[in-house]
Amino acid sequence: MIYLDYQATTPVAPEVAEAMRPWAEEKFANPHSPSRWGAEAAAAVEVARSQVERAIGLDGGSVAFTGSATEALNWALKGTAENAPEGRNRIITVATEHAAVLDTCEWLAGQGFDITILPVATDGLIAIEDLKRELDDSVMLVAAMLVNNEIGVIHSIAEVAALAHGAGALMLCDAVQGLGRVAIPNGPDLVAVSAHKIHGPKAIGALWMRDGAQPAPIIHGGGQERGMRSGTLSPALCVGFGEAAKLATQREQADHDHVEQLWARAMQALGDRWTINGSAERRYHGNLNIRRAGVDTARLVADLRDVAFSLGSACASGSGRPSHVLRAIGLSGREARSSVRLGFGRYTTEAELVDALGRIDAAADAQEKFAA
Ligand code: PLP
Repeated sequence: MIYLDYQATTPVAPEVAEAMRPWAEEKFANPHSPSRWGAEAAAAVEVARSQVERAIGLDGGSVAFTGSATEALNWALKGTAENAPEGRNRIITVATEHAAVLDTCEWLAGQGFDITILPVATDGLIAIEDLKRELDDSVMLVAAMLVNNEIGVIHSIAEVAALAHGAGALMLCDAVQGLGRVAIPNGPDLVAVSAHKIHGPKAIGALWMRDGAQPAPIIHGGGQERGMRSGTLSPALCVGFGEAAKLATQREQADHDHVEQLWARAMQALGDRWTINGSAERRYHGNLNIRRAGVDTARLVADLRDVAFSLGSACASGSGRPSHVLRAIGLSGREARSSVRLGFGRYTTEAELVDALGRIDAAADAQEKFAA
């Protein structure tokens, strides 16, 4: 199989699997218990925490582990809303955010909070003027992602955070697709990340919180994460996340150069009937979201069983709904349904990518011939 779905999830790095093994097998102690074994597990969790903090690379805050980035985003939004000062009842976000943000905002709207959703242009980016116009002293939080999961475009997070702060609001950044791929700019007060997008295990994420900007807890119980998030941590998952973060930090340049090479090769191989969705320049180059007029991409996926790629966001796949991101950049339902997302990275070879692009193109040709 040729795996080209790096935005959905990434292959677990061999070093990560190796680091996790003892914690999944013999080292089973509860990291919150006072025994010597518990203390050993707790120490491993703390090493992992600092590895994740180093990969995030921001000063003046710390990380709490969560069960996913979805949980981290729910926590950041709901917990900030709960702490919001009198009169600050509004959250501003962007039309192309992940469902973990948009659906949580919709839920908050049902609880009486005001939600403003900024549109994006055809390049997938917001107009800063729109944000400036919306910001006032009713806003508690601005939520914007660093790298879009469907089309890979990179938002100006530092600028968004500075404007939010200027209006006395906090800024939440979903950096799930950015961590290890694009430097996280200074500015956000809250940052959500996920291990499985950086060659770590699934079902562990983290919320980085600037000191003093911690949201109210949403999961109550034993208070294991310094009173802010309850639930017994899994040392195996934390260690896996930590190792993945360490590798991402060490390999930052090498991974970046490799992705740039793959992108350049893809640009040579891509036939001129394919159009890139979203900005080609302000984009993480490990994401190639393309469309070709008239192609039924659901059929492409079915025809090409040994190439793994996506129709848009993995979460939306199978729902039959055209991607909200592709609609937001102005594509018709038809254009959105003729789009595919190819994601590649550390373990993808140039030969695999070129081979897959050739097969996708040939399958699209076959559809065209059949339709003619
Ligand atoms: N945010 C973005 C941009 C994502 O791509 C994803 C995963 O697809 C998430 C949030 C949710 O992450 P998790 O799978 O850890 O819940």
